[in-house]
Amino acid sequence: MTTTEQGACLCGCGGTPAYPGSRYLPGHDRRHIEQLVSDVLAGREEAGARAELQTASAQSEFDRRLVERA
Ligand SMILES: [Zn+2]
Repeated sequence: MTTTEQGACLCGCGGTPAYPGSRYLPGHDRRHIEQLVSDVLAGREEAGARAELQTASAQSEFDRRLVERA
């Protein structure tokens, strides 16, 4: 066990990332981005969706996917 508090995978799958500091299980960052893009296209506020992505790289990927699917 680790003393670092390890939260659940941010995508909402309920899994726990293997490494302290990781936010996602492998590949789940992309899954989370796709889910949020779908939410925005369905009417969710974009700023709120982007705020769920806690890294700059995930946010830029979100922006890219949103433009592709808009
Ligand atoms: Zn996950």
